[in-house]
Amino acid sequence: ERIVNQEVDSNELSFEQSLRPQTLQQYIGQDKVKANLSVFIEAARMREETLDHVLLYGPPGLGKTTLAVIIANEMGVNIRTTSGPAIERPGDLAAILSALEPGDVLFIDEIHRLPRAVEEVLYPAMEDFCLDIVIGKGPEARSIRIDLPPFTLVGATTRAGALSAPLRDRFGVLSRLEYYTEYQLTDIVMRTSVIMDTEMDVQAAGEIARRSRGTPRIANRLLRRVRDFAQVRGDGTITKELADYALELLQVDRLGLDHIDHKLLRGIIEKFRGGPVGLETIAATIGEEAHTIEDVYEPYLLQIGFLQRTPRGRIATPLVYEHFQMEVPK
Ligand code: ATP
Repeated sequence: ERIVNQEVDSNELSFEQSLRPQTLQQYIGQDKVKANLSVFIEAARMREETLDHVLLYGPPGLGKTTLAVIIANEMGVNIRTTSGPAIERPGDLAAILSALEPGDVLFIDEIHRLPRAVEEVLYPAMEDFCLDIVIGKGPEARSIRIDLPPFTLVGATTRAGALSAPLRDRFGVLSRLEYYTEYQLTDIVMRTSVIMDTEMDVQAAGEIARRSRGTPRIANRLLRRVRDFAQVRGDGTITKELADYALELLQVDRLGLDHIDHKLLRGIIEKFRGGPVGLETIAATIGEEAHTIEDVYEPYLLQIGFLQRTPRGRIATPLVYEHFQMEVPK
C-alpha cells in the first residue's frame, strides 16, 4: 500500500469533498486555466447562454473534479456527476441527458473510457442538444429525434491522447492541468490545516508540499497522516521537526519518493549499471507487472528527470546517483 498512490477509498473521498474549494478565487494555482475559464464563464453569463463544453486533462489528483464543481457554482447551475465506465449502454446516457435541467453541468470523469456506441449518442447531444434514437429492428427500424435542454459537458481525462478525435473536436474549451509548484502546494496545505482546525508552521507545510509530487491529493493525504503523529506524539501542533519525523516514518523522502521508487531506481543502478534496461527486465527484477511500472511508478520519475525512456530501455540519470549520494559510474 503506497501513501503516494492515486487510489481514493470512500473514507478519503468524503475527506476530499470537505476540502473542495467552491469558487475560482478559492482554487489555488492553475492560473492560466483559471484566467481563461473566468472570461468564458463571465461571457456566457452576460449572454445568458450555457458555457461551451469543457475538457479538463492532466494527471490524477490535480483538481479536475473540483474544477468541474466550481464551473457549475460559478455558472449558478446544478452539476450531475458520472464517469465513462459507469455508462455502459447508449440508453444509460440517454436517461442521464434527458433528466438534465436547462443549463446544467454534466461531469463525465474518465471520459476516455466511454464505450464507442455511447460516444456516438453524445455527438449530436453536444452539438445540437438532441438525441437520435433508433427504435425497432430491421426494415421496421426508424430513427426519432428528441430535443434536450441545453447543457455544458465537462469531461475529465488523464489521457487526452486516448480520446477519439471526433469527441475531442466537440469541446470548445480544452484546459490542461499542470503539476503544482511547491509554493502553491504550501498554500493548499495551509488552507487544509485551517479547515481541519490544526495549528501548523508554514515550514512544516513547505516540507509536506515538497514531498507531495506536485499533487494536492497527495499533499492533503500526507497532512492528514502527519496530523495523527502530531496528536499522538506531540501536542497537536504540526511543527517542522514533527513533520520531518512523521514523513520519515511514512517513508516518503524529501522528493516524495517512497520505498517502491527506491527499489526500482536502485534496481536499475545496482543490477544494470544505470541502464539502458528493458521494461520487462525491470519488471521481472523487482517483481511487478510491466504495465504497472509504466502507468503508476514511472510517470513521476520521468517528470522529475530521474528516468529517461530510450528505444533500448530505461536509463537512470545522474540525478538519481546524486539523490542516493552515489558516484556515477564511468
Ligand atoms: P481524479 O482525476 O483522480 O479524480 P482530480 O483531478 O479530479 O482527481 P480532485 O478530486 O478534484 O482531483 O482533487 C483532489 C483533492 O485535492 C481534493 O480534496 C481537492 O479539494 C484538492 N484540490 C485540488 N486542486 C486544488 C486547488 N487548486 N486548490 C485547493 N485544493 C485543491
